[in-house]
Parts: sequence; structure tokens; C-alpha cells
Amino acid sequence: MTKYKLEYLWLDGYTPVPNIRGKTQIKEFDSFPTLEQLPLWGFDGSSTKQAEGGSSDCVLKPVSLFPDSQRKNGIIVMCEVMMPDLTPHPSNMRATILDDPGAWFGFEQEYFFYRNGRPIGFPESGYPAPQGPYYTGVGYSNVGDMARKIVEEHLDICLDAGINHEGINAEVAKGQWEFQIFGKGSKKAADEMWVARYLLQRLTEKYGVDIEYHCKPLGNTDWNGSGMHANFSTTYLREVGGKEYFEKLMKAFADTREDHIAVYGPDNHLRLTGLHETASIHSFSYGVADRGASIRVPHSFVNNNYRGYLEDRRPNSQGDPYQIASRILKTVASVPTA
Ligand code: ADP
Ligand code: MN
Ligand code: MN
Ligand code: MN
Repeated sequence: MTKYKLEYLWLDGYTPVPNIRGKTQIKEFDSFPTLEQLPLWGFDGSSTKQAEGGSSDCVLKPVSLFPDSQRKNGIIVMCEVMMPDLTPHPSNMRATILDDPGAWFGFEQEYFFYRNGRPIGFPESGYPAPQGPYYTGVGYSNVGDMARKIVEEHLDICLDAGINHEGINAEVAKGQWEFQIFGKGSKKAADEMWVARYLLQRLTEKYGVDIEYHCKPLGNTDWNGSGMHANFSTTYLREVGGKEYFEKLMKAFADTREDHIAVYGPDNHLRLTGLHETASIHSFSYGVADRGASIRVPHSFVNNNYRGYLEDRRPNSQGDPYQIASRILKTVASVPTA
């Protein structure tokens, strides 16, 4: 028997953006356990905005597990929060995602490394040299002496965990980076994004660095904001598609614009200004290879008779991938596939 360290993770009840929480329990298993072998657990919901003091127990239901290479015999256990009767807790947004193994998502997470209230590499007062060389840049004056070490370590930890991490790039602002996660199945990429965020925050503790997920941390300036573009496809979109279906789908997105914006992350009006390769928050648009549109339609999609994936560019870096996936699939499901 081996004593495994099980780190149960869940999302708390804070709005508009939940925080990831975690606690460890030790359990013995003959070998690396399966999901079915992992017990339900509980926590004090009155400390996480998920219950009143009187009857404060919430239930943690394991939904996916990941080897944790940073801990001896460590396992990360992603959980849904349930009521004591095992129905989903109101804060449990994962439970609202339609089950669809044919739905694929790719999220592009942008974020800043922060220390002492400013991006790493920013001087104590004022600004560094203007944006330009930082995006996909190399060299100390562009990326400093710490960020690359962190993103490389994070990549390895994610790959060790079996997370389908797809890539990294330095972003437009100094101290800003991106990674991408892709998953097949309506909940997979979102689960892995939350675990990847957790791993990044945990990793940077030892560097004395925080991850700033806010979509416009440098306020109303030309400094780049952070998005989390949501690339999506369904079996029908990949295999059947067609211009007529595509146009109906875009109409459904236009009609539900406000419902989408509501879950695409807070303060998005600061970012979706219509400038800097962003759409305006006040209108819905789509365009081929158009990085200023709400939804970018890849060339390959049009060339393949309107089949493939689409990129919703509006979700921001602080958005909850569960709520984003849930909303996109609801809108897609509202369009009849003839
Ligand atoms: P860009 O920065 O040019 O927008 P990235 O390479 O950063 O592009 O991100 C593209 C994303 O699209 C990746 O996360 C990728 O996994 C995702 N993607 C590619 N094909 C599909 C597909 N068929 N369905 C859903 N997402 C997809
Ligand atoms: Mn990208
Ligand atoms: Mn980017
Ligand atoms: Mn993109």
C-alpha cells in the first residue's frame, strides 16, 4: 500500500469570478487510484461564500484526477461542489455544461506576472520601453531573467499531469504571457485550464510572484489587455457545417450577445474597446481572419465549406472556462442541425 497525497481542488462561491481552493488528504491505495476509488469529501462552505454558518457543510465530488509531479505520491483531484443531498451546489457551473464528447475547446490564457503591484520588469515608477519587441521576444531586456524559467517549469508540470498544454508565447506587454490548452469533450479543456491555473499560482509562490488575471491591469492605457480566446467546434461543425448553418449560428450568437458577455469575465468593457485587435463590447461581429471581430473565422473554415472551428475572441483572462463552455454550447445547441 502507498500513502497518496490527494489535493482536492474546487471553485469557491465568489462572484463574478470564483477562486480555486484546495486541501490535502492522505489515503492509502495499492496503486495509482482511479476516479471511482476516490471518496467524496467535505469542506466548510461558510468560509468560501458557499453556505451560511448554521449548516455549512458542502460536498466535494471528484470529477478528474492528475498526477502531481511536484509532490511525492501526489495527485490533484478536481472536484465539483455538491449539496449535502448530492445535487449540484448553485455555484457549481461545471454541472451546467451540456455533456458532449464531440465538443472540443481550445483556450488561450493570457496573464501578467506581478510583483509589488506591477508587472515584473516594470520600473518602480513609470513604464518600461513601449510595446513592440516583447511579443514572442527573446533576451533579458525583453523578457527579464525569471519569466521564462517559470513558464518552462509550468509547462513541464502540466505535461507531467497529463494536461493537454499546447504551447507558450510571450505576449504584447512586458511581463505578459500566454499558454494554450486544448481538450476533446465539453468539460475537458475547462477542467485542465483550472488545474493549469492552480499549478501556475502554486508554482509562483516560491518566486514571490503573483498571477494577475485581470483583463486590463494597466487600466486605460495602450498597454495590452489579457484575453482568453475560446476556440470551439462540435462534431456537426467539423463534419457537416455549411454556409447556411454557419449563418444561423452567427445569428444565434448575435441574439445572445448579452448572455455571452455576462459570463466572459468582469470588466470586459475596459478591454473590448474595439481597438488593439478587440471587438466592441456593444456589438457582435464575425469575420474571416478578422482579429478585430467578436468571432474570428479561420481561412481554413471557409475554404473547407464552412467546416472546422471558430474563435470567440471576447472571453477575457479572468473568465471561468466552465461558464464560457456552458454558454457557447447552449447557443450552439439552440441552432437546429438540419
Ligand atoms: P491565435 O493566437 O492565432 O489565436 P493559438 O495557436 O494561440 O492561435 O490558439 C489556437 C487554438 O485553437 C488552440 O488552443 C487550438 O487547440 C484550438 N483549436 C484548433 N483546432 C480546434 C478545433 N477543431 N476545435 C476547437 N479548438 C481548436
Ligand atoms: Mn494565441
Ligand atoms: Mn494572445
Ligand atoms: Mn487567439
